[in-house]
Amino acid sequence: MSDTFVIDTEAGIKNTVQDSELQILPLYDDNHPMLAQKIPTYTGNFPNGTLTVLAKRLKMTMKLYNGLGLAANQCGVFERMFVMQHDGKILTCINPKIIDESDEAQDVKEGCLSFPGMFLNLKRSKWITAQWTDENGTEYEAMMEGVPAVVFQHELDHLNGVKMTDSLKPLALKMAKEKQMKFIKKIKRQYKKQYQESIS
Ligand SMILES: [Zn+2]
Repeated sequence: MSDTFVIDTEAGIKNTVQDSELQILPLYDDNHPMLAQKIPTYTGNFPNGTLTVLAKRLKMTMKLYNGLGLAANQCGVFERMFVMQHDGKILTCINPKIIDESDEAQDVKEGCLSFPGMFLNLKRSKWITAQWTDENGTEYEAMMEGVPAVVFQHELDHLNGVKMTDSLKPLALKMAKEKQMKFIKKIKRQYKKQYQESIS
């Protein structure tokens, strides 16, 4: 497994392309400082070998963990970029923006690969008009609603250093963490049982 992937120099691009492109990135947990950092706009050229490889790795990593979206800084990569599932495809969103959104909010139960086993009831705009650039430099604008709108808002929050737990009051956060630990213990017990059954 590769380590972090923070490369913006010409030399760095060469190094990265020589690596195997299809690598799984490490998933950092919620205490990692990069998750609380606002990632600056990408101002480089397109196409950029580093971003192309990074897009592939983010997509692979998201698929491995069954995520709906994954931001680069969740993997310790300092690039304003995320990938997300949309309409049976996976989008690469560089410099994503919301240029319009509904006044009406929807209640959503949200999870996050940086908070495994935690699910929070949050409010999100019902629809958004989103803009982004893909790894080839093509610019897009689309209206999204339902799950993709939620995923786009969630991943954009990551790039702004906002975690899904940030809006919780201390007591609610404590309760959510307790529930998360219970959930993780339950999953571990299930795996242990399945493993024991498989070898007995
Ligand atoms: Zn997340």
